[in-house]
Amino acid sequence: MKELYQQLGISDKVFEYGKQIEEKLKNRFNQIDQTAEYNQLKVIKALQSHKVSAECFMGSSGYGYNDLGRDTLEEVYASCFHGEAALVRPQITCGTHALALALMSNLRPGDELLSPVGKPYDTLEEVIGIRPSKGSLAEYGITYRQADLLADGSFDYEAIKSAINQNTKLITIQRSKGYQTRPTLSVKKIGELISFIKRIKPDVICMVDNCYGEFVERTEPLEAGADMIVGSLIKNPGGGLAPIGGYIVGRQECIENAAYRLTSPGLGKEVGASLGVIQSFYQGLFLAPTVTAGALKGAVFAANIYESLGFAVIPNSTESRHDIIQAVELQSPESLIAFCKGIQAAAPVDSHVTPEPWAMPGYDDKVIMAAGAFVQGSSIELSADGPLRAPYAVYFQGGLTWYHAKLGILMSLQKLMEAGLIQL
Ligand SMILES: *Cc1c(COP(=O)(O)O)cnc(C)c1O
Repeated sequence: MKELYQQLGISDKVFEYGKQIEEKLKNRFNQIDQTAEYNQLKVIKALQSHKVSAECFMGSSGYGYNDLGRDTLEEVYASCFHGEAALVRPQITCGTHALALALMSNLRPGDELLSPVGKPYDTLEEVIGIRPSKGSLAEYGITYRQADLLADGSFDYEAIKSAINQNTKLITIQRSKGYQTRPTLSVKKIGELISFIKRIKPDVICMVDNCYGEFVERTEPLEAGADMIVGSLIKNPGGGLAPIGGYIVGRQECIENAAYRLTSPGLGKEVGASLGVIQSFYQGLFLAPTVTAGALKGAVFAANIYESLGFAVIPNSTESRHDIIQAVELQSPESLIAFCKGIQAAAPVDSHVTPEPWAMPGYDDKVIMAAGAFVQGSSIELSADGPLRAPYAVYFQGGLTWYHAKLGILMSLQKLMEAGLIQL
């Protein structure tokens, strides 16, 4: 084993360091496996109860009328995530698109959107119009308010209460931390927040940006009172196999609104060919619980390694997990770049290229991204990225298998050591 690691560029010292950390994580890994088992059964139950059969994998072209595979998959998603209906489509191009669709279709001019959990994900700033942008909600006369989290990461209930007014129509709650160093929200916490909000305004729509959270816990936000959950298929629920796509699951009316906006008024869910990708959506969902477990193990391993070296890691080495993201505050641009080079060098695809910081569309600062993925930009595959701004936090996520995630983390350690940025 050691020899093969050596051939891949991992020194004895790094290998032994990793081994010693891994040995302490047996209980943690066992808990992750039990959640995966539970969620695997949940997915199989949903597939069986909707009688998924070979005809579902045929795909359709053109208008896509009567596409059995597409319609059945949407029922499977609705069951699995406890919603009344779902929209799961390759025509939803990414997570940002799914979120923009859910917002734009459920808000009307004069309505107000509220984020009670602080600043939303970077790309949503342009969707909302926090940063002026063509086609934003702001251009359509939809206003936005935000209540920041308190310094310890908890909800500022007073601020939330005073932000809710007669125009508040939709609340957006981001489960994952995104490019911030606040804690990720557990489904339980999200539930508490939603009950508080619904006590003040029962008819408000509570939407959860569920990106990176799917299958990490045994329950999902719709079970905690959310009206709509939204996510990307090139993250957890696509299981690494979906080559594109996004989903919205929730209340019938919310999903209908989204469908009429995605295609056209009058057409809604009836059109939208599933082309040749539908089988990968099913198979990816089937694999998603174990793929997510592999990614989680990688995140826990990384937290334990980097915390033991004295870096601030979020979540820390022992905290419970509510998404697959691991942030490590590397404190210098050199360390951030070296970390990303390690992840890249461990990839099954494009391991020979070197990542460089660039001005990526939708983001404010330069961003460095390391990914050697089968699906471009897929972040359920092992990837690391971070904006070049203090505290130079790298956001590390994914790994279709735990063994690949482990190699990536060991390689990041190797690169930091070779650059003289850490000592083991
Ligand atoms: C990834 C992500 C998004 C955006 O998804 P893209 O597919 O990158 O457009 C939105 N919110 C959160 C929390 C995310 O992690």
